[in-house]
Amino acid sequence: MTQHGLATRAIHDGQQPDPTTGAVVPPIYQTSTFVQDGVNQFRSGGHEYSRGSNPTRNGFEEQLASLESGRRAFAFASGMAAEDALLRAVLSPGDHVVLASDVYGGTFRLVDQVLSSWGIEHSFVPSASADDAAATIQPGRTAVLWLETPSNPLLRVADIAAWARVAEDAGALLVVDNTFATPVLQNPLTLGAHAVIHSTTKYIGGHSDVLGGAVVVGDAQWRGQPLTDVIAFQQFACGAVAAPFDSFLAARGLKTLPLRMERHCANALAVAEFLESREDVLEVNYPGLRSHPQHDLATRTLNGGYGGIISFRPAGGVEAADEFAKTSELYNLSVSLGGVESLVCVPHSMTHAPRVGTPYEVPEDLVRLSVGIEDLSDHVEDLDAALNQATTASRVLLAG
Ligand SMILES: *Cc1c(COP(=O)(O)O)cnc(C)c1O
Repeated sequence: MTQHGLATRAIHDGQQPDPTTGAVVPPIYQTSTFVQDGVNQFRSGGHEYSRGSNPTRNGFEEQLASLESGRRAFAFASGMAAEDALLRAVLSPGDHVVLASDVYGGTFRLVDQVLSSWGIEHSFVPSASADDAAATIQPGRTAVLWLETPSNPLLRVADIAAWARVAEDAGALLVVDNTFATPVLQNPLTLGAHAVIHSTTKYIGGHSDVLGGAVVVGDAQWRGQPLTDVIAFQQFACGAVAAPFDSFLAARGLKTLPLRMERHCANALAVAEFLESREDVLEVNYPGLRSHPQHDLATRTLNGGYGGIISFRPAGGVEAADEFAKTSELYNLSVSLGGVESLVCVPHSMTHAPRVGTPYEVPEDLVRLSVGIEDLSDHVEDLDAALNQATTASRVLLAG
């Protein structure tokens, strides 16, 4: 049988109608434990206790594993819980981690402030380049390379296959945080990555109404064991699992992800082109623009679009950036991203504040947009009005 397409799998894999009642949508198994017919005689599915397995969570995990071309997915209570579980499952004291420089702020904090006291060291790669990553490897000690592409908030694009070769040579695992691209645009496991991380809070949930995270792995082995077993044990033993209701919301969101991404990508490309056409915008970062330094790489590695996140710098400095963020009406001023509704933030003082004073500080006048799936004409109208107001002072200067 040929494999179904991605949109079909998003709707059906792991989401079969309930066999007992015929309910088209699998029910939310809001239960902590499962009755046994005799000691250790479990009913169908083999469920015992919901930390170990729960049908609602397992359905979502199967659905996500299918979309990522993975062997198994594991759902957690948040993206950070997933990252913590993965890193603590595979690392031992004395190990070294290589991080691409603009990884998510919480990833930076986890490695820098939590894992460091458990004897884990780390290095940053100053770019998205695999050659630079190779130069930071500590032979025999580097256990994990961690990459986010496209990155946040500068939308740099990395060559996953090239990073995977560096990881293989080092005997290390390549982890790719695929939150921005989603399994619709990119499947890191098929490019050689060993594990994929998602904050399902973002595009997978897609409606800004649930926190969640996931680890997806393929057939990689780690220190003599299948990586699937290593993560399964960690999830069960440490217990930061996704709740049944949260798993239901994530599964419901995932069904429309391919459709939503089409609109996110189309809107974002048009918005990026609009911003680039303005004289009061100094710089636009979006991999779909020809002006993006890695546009060709992005076109080769991303399928069907360049994602829904844009960052840009309005003329007029941080005052203009703050004014824009506050003024725009369609774009709500808040952290987070990936929902149906548009959001705006100023990363330097909001999401990326912990980096101020480090070499990885982002420009203070950078604005990040999470472009939602509203009508495009409303986006353009809103951005036009907000930019006009935010950059008035500098446009007077430009004209004068
Ligand atoms: C939000 C986010 C995370 C963390 O996920 P939470 O669900 O907030 O814990 C990790 N990586 C990326 C790229 C994110 O955007």
